[in-house]
Amino acid sequence: MYLKEIKVVGFKSFADKTTLNFEPTITGIVGPNGSGKSNVVDAVRWVLGEQSVKALRGEGIMTDVIFAGTEKRSPLGRASVTITLDNSDQFLPLPYEEIEIKRTLYKDGSNEYFINGSKARLKDVGDLIIDSGLSKESFNIISQGEIENIINSKPQDRRVIFEDASNTLKYKKRKMQALHKMERANENITRLGDIISELDIEREPLKEQSEEAEKYLKIKNRLDNIELSFLTFSINDETLKLETIKKDIETKKASNDTYLEKRKQKELEEENYKKQQSENHRLLNELQDKLYEATEEKRKLENEKNLIEQRKKYQNNDLNYESKIYQLKETELKAQTELNILENKIKETKEKANNIKDKINDFQEEILKLNETYKGSHIKLDNLISEEKSIEYQIKNLENSLNTHSNLYGGVKAVLNNKELNGIDGVIGELVEASKKYAIAIDTALLSASQFIVTSDEDNAKKAINFLKKNNLGKATFFPLTTIAPREIESYLLDKIKDDNAYVDIASNLVEYDKKYYNIISNQLGKVIVAKDLDGAIKLSKKCNHQLKIVTLDGEVCHVGGSLSGGQSKYNKTGMIEEKLDLEKLKVDLKEIIQEIEIIKKELITKKDEISAKEEELNIKSRMFNELNVTYQLLTEKSSELKENISRISEETKSFSNTNSETIDNYEKELLDKYYKQIEICDTLKLEVHEKQKSNNELDEILTLIDRNIKDLVDDEKNHDEALKGLEILLTRTEMKLENLNEALKEDYNLTYEEALTKKLEDIDLKTTGKEIIKLKKELLDYPEVNIGAKEAFDRLNERYTLFVKEKEDLEKGNEDLLSIINQMDEIMKEKFKETFDKINESFKLVFNNLFKGGTAKLELTDKNDLLNTGIEIIASPPGKKLKHISLLSGGEKALTAISLLFGILRIKEIPFSILDEVEAALDESNVEHFANYLKSHFSNTQFILVTHKKKTMEFVDALYGVTMVEKGVSKLVSVKLK
Ligand code: ATP
Repeated sequence: MYLKEIKVVGFKSFADKTTLNFEPTITGIVGPNGSGKSNVVDAVRWVLGEQSVKALRGEGIMTDVIFAGTEKRSPLGRASVTITLDNSDQFLPLPYEEIEIKRTLYKDGSNEYFINGSKARLKDVGDLIIDSGLSKESFNIISQGEIENIINSKPQDRRVIFEDASNTLKYKKRKMQALHKMERANENITRLGDIISELDIEREPLKEQSEEAEKYLKIKNRLDNIELSFLTFSINDETLKLETIKKDIETKKASNDTYLEKRKQKELEEENYKKQQSENHRLLNELQDKLYEATEEKRKLENEKNLIEQRKKYQNNDLNYESKIYQLKETELKAQTELNILENKIKETKEKANNIKDKINDFQEEILKLNETYKGSHIKLDNLISEEKSIEYQIKNLENSLNTHSNLYGGVKAVLNNKELNGIDGVIGELVEASKKYAIAIDTALLSASQFIVTSDEDNAKKAINFLKKNNLGKATFFPLTTIAPREIESYLLDKIKDDNAYVDIASNLVEYDKKYYNIISNQLGKVIVAKDLDGAIKLSKKCNHQLKIVTLDGEVCHVGGSLSGGQSKYNKTGMIEEKLDLEKLKVDLKEIIQEIEIIKKELITKKDEISAKEEELNIKSRMFNELNVTYQLLTEKSSELKENISRISEETKSFSNTNSETIDNYEKELLDKYYKQIEICDTLKLEVHEKQKSNNELDEILTLIDRNIKDLVDDEKNHDEALKGLEILLTRTEMKLENLNEALKEDYNLTYEEALTKKLEDIDLKTTGKEIIKLKKELLDYPEVNIGAKEAFDRLNERYTLFVKEKEDLEKGNEDLLSIINQMDEIMKEKFKETFDKINESFKLVFNNLFKGGTAKLELTDKNDLLNTGIEIIASPPGKKLKHISLLSGGEKALTAISLLFGILRIKEIPFSILDEVEAALDESNVEHFANYLKSHFSNTQFILVTHKKKTMEFVDALYGVTMVEKGVSKLVSVKLK
């Protein structure tokens, strides 16, 4: 690389635009004093970013470098210098053959920098040339009078030249930046430490309070959760109980009438029997009167008969004979009378027995029939109970399937069953209702859309999808309420089909749903037509050019485009709408069956009572029948005996009569007849009285039985009334309990039962949860002064605290990192510095000896142990002179020593160009020659621009520029090419 061109305008004495072109050789700049030669050197320093006015030989401010004007010329508004560097060897790290650096300064003090025409910062220029040997710290541009400064300056100030030569300046700069950064960080660390300490004072007590509050809230949340569930489930439970109690009360009230009716019936029966009993008593009295009269009559006749018998005893000789006949006759008549009575009795007994037998048969038949109907009702009851169980099972299954969504796709089910997800309204199939008639059609129209999940918005749908994805639970389709648009059939299409008798309606018109789902329902069903049957559907499809989907009431489909589908599903699966309808139907059926069961149970009780009553009566009748049979036997036996007696007496009488004439007169005969007839009458009456008395006893028995029945019924009624009262008390209690539960829900949670149902409820066991609630409430009493806000306050404070601690730690870590980088850089700097120093020292020794033609010189570190800060001492001893302090050297010796150091450095570090302003001014002619010779012969790779007054120097240069002031105060350039 070399300096190819300098363009100056408005800079110091160069008022006009002046261009200096250079070759990579030695160029001299010559001219009279004050013509502006050094201004060229300044221009190069300045364009490379010099910020020191002093370094530019000024005293005031930087704008002093702008051309100040002359007597004839006005001052200028800006100064501008541009240098062009040949970078074809890529010495500078930019991919350009040439690099142009430009600086412009305006009167207001503002600077502009450009690199290859692009605006740049001072830092960019600095970064570009650092390490190149061109930076201001470098030793390549030596201004007028400056050469001796290197000798006169302090050892400490000299080290910068060595740092630049060892390319460690960039590290030094970075180190300085890092140290600044560390300093700022340390300030922040201190500030953060103060804040953290302050926060810590607040934090400790708040932490304790927060932990208390956290424990309290944990218990409270648990309590709220389970209490809400407990209250809600209890309300549900008590409501069910209330319904059951009401039903029981209704049943009890209805059966009340049955008891009353039965009692009335029995009382009526009792009344009838009592009437019968009093009639019997009356008849008995009558019979007893008659018996009394007949007995009196019989006594009279007996007296009369006895008188005749007495008289006959005294009148007749043949008294014995007559008496015998009379006795025989009397005995015969007596027996005959007795026989007649017996015969009557037998007849009567037989009739009675037959009657009772008939009744027994009737009862048996009735009991048989009753038992059969009882059995029949029982079988019916058993059937109904098993049907009830079966329906209950079906309901449970269906409810279970609907509640747990077990029939839905895995993904859909997983979303619906996840209570953590918000804004999930349900699947479309759940959100619509249809009547039985349209259920199949709607299920078919929806098909898999019935399992599309409706969400409140897209965000909630997204969350649900993420949940499915994260847990690998399958897929589901979501219909956010906020995005789905409604769909309707175009009116021209509808006009073509709506009057056809096969047309039923648009599917969306046949369902019921909450109006907020209008968009979604019309999106899915708004473009589907329901037709009566398949033929109708085909007809309608043709009419609308197969542009609509048409479903039939039986579930066949005419798709858009005209394809058809139908038939029975392989799995015979019911759609969701049909499933819901089935559930409703089953519930109605169950209610009817329960009612029927109650009726049959009541019937069975009545029948059982009836059978028992009949059986009791049958027993009485059977007993009577047996008794009658026994009587009949006895009477028959007695009758046979009497018949035999009579025939024997009759034979005896006959044999007596044949031997005797008429011995008994007619009167006597008549009397005897009357007498025996009267005996017969008396006996008959006695029998009747006896019968009546027996009948009365029977009635007494029946009445006792009925009385017992009535008492039982009254007892039953009483029990029933008590049970009813008990139920009514239970009803009031349950109603009160429900009221209390609802009030608690309202007061504690500000929720109605319906609202509570929409909350997340836990599955609880009412009994154990009740105990847990009491336990938790007791636990809460241990926290009488809990500060609920403490947790939030602590969290907020802790968040800040943690943030500050983290920030502090980050800063400390950053400082540690920086320190480690600095240490690394220090090591590099030390190493490079020492290495370069040693090399320069050796090189300096050689050059000194060469230029002074003898003598010794060396460089020494003032503090070898502190390579980062050590100063550099120059020790020089010209030939023949003793080593003494450098400050004691002559001006020329100082200059030649300094030049030796410059050349020493140039020997070990390649510097692209060097501008030396009268560095050899103090040298005598021979030393100038040494200087020039050395320069010319040793540094072919370095371009030199030498400002000089020395003719000897001019002899060595390859090109020469002359600077003059033809116009006073304005520098001008004269180029002289030398061959
Ligand atoms: P010497 O041989 O004596 O060292 P020189 O050729 O190196 O002289 P310079 O020091 O480059 O001369 O130029 C100094 C001249 O520049 C002075 O005449 C001074 O007035 C002029 N000068 C310096 N600054 C300005 C400025 N801002 N405007 C106009 N002229 C200026």
